[in-house]
Amino acid sequence: MSVFDLPAFDDHEAVHIFDDAKSGMRAIIAIHSTHLGPAAGGCRYHQYADSEAALVDALRLSRGMSYKNALAGLPAGGGKAVLFKRSAFPKSDAILEALGGAISSLNGNYVTAEDIGMSDADMEVIARRTKHVSGLPVAGGKAGGNPGPWTAEGVFLGMRAAVRHRLGREGFKGVHVAIQGLGSVGIALARHLAADGARLTVADIDEAKAAQLAGELRAHVVAPEEILFTEADVLAPCALGAVLNEETIPALNAEIVAGAANNQLRRPEDGDRLKERGVLYVPDYALNAGGIINVMAEYFGDGDAEAVKTRIAKIEDRVAKILTRADQEGEATNRVADQMARELIGRG
Ligand code: NAD
Repeated sequence: MSVFDLPAFDDHEAVHIFDDAKSGMRAIIAIHSTHLGPAAGGCRYHQYADSEAALVDALRLSRGMSYKNALAGLPAGGGKAVLFKRSAFPKSDAILEALGGAISSLNGNYVTAEDIGMSDADMEVIARRTKHVSGLPVAGGKAGGNPGPWTAEGVFLGMRAAVRHRLGREGFKGVHVAIQGLGSVGIALARHLAADGARLTVADIDEAKAAQLAGELRAHVVAPEEILFTEADVLAPCALGAVLNEETIPALNAEIVAGAANNQLRRPEDGDRLKERGVLYVPDYALNAGGIINVMAEYFGDGDAEAVKTRIAKIEDRVAKILTRADQEGEATNRVADQMARELIGRG
């Protein structure tokens, strides 16, 4: 099948394929849009079934970054790199440096950052060959570094807008939130919520992590297979994508779904399913932009941690706007957010 016929192809501006025989680096960099600025989005390191699967992932994820960056108000377009995990060529400095060279050849049209399978140490190796990289370790008070806590802050604020919208409540006192996944975002989110008086139920496949957090925040722990279906005011998926689908949606027991995980809907129609069930879904990319807001401030060198905080604070209002417009138009929230993002990137 030609790339232009793939369902994930959405008039991407460019798709670059790199193969460095010497190091074993293979990567695809998809640039969906540079309408608002350089295409920004992380690099994913993953073992794909074949190169088409990698291409589809790059196409899908780069479009997602266009939408996320546009809604976040960033002067950045959307792009994504996927670095092939190959058993014959384990991740090495040579591979990461070759990737840096590939990114450099795009002359700033694409800016990379960390994504699944990559670390900030990897970003430092990539940075030996290109300046178009963000998410490098930074000193306190500056923008940049680990995006998790920033993402959590944005999720907390966006969730607060959803609680106000659906439950008519100001803040989280007595609001019950179920969190799936206690990683870099989930833990920070749990702490924000607990500090604001929320009642928490949590789960992680790492039981020790869940137990430790439960001790610290007096949260209730359930098994990983139960958390999605916990009776709660808010369900916050902060682990995996595609958790909202034909099988899970009928069994959900929360009024609101608002979490950090990327691509929570398996398909766009799952947003319609949630609406039909009366569950208020907050589009993931509208909520989880705190991390990219932070790393782009580092990249553009335009603002310290305080400035990042101010930009992330706008997520609350943006989420409120999406939810209000969805009510007015009688549309699913994910469709409204996509439409708003497309208008911003000149594809309305
Ligand atoms: P992480 O890898 O630090 O944490 C994920 C946690 O989920 C881990 O503790 C893992 O054990 C747990 N987990 C995995 N499968 C689970 C399951 N079935 N049930 C319960 N727990 C499970 O990741 P993170 O950085 O905290 O990100 C969480 C999600 O948010 C991911 O989907 C990520 O793509 C998305 N996201 C993260 C950021 C960021 O800034 N880190 C930004 C945007 C989106």
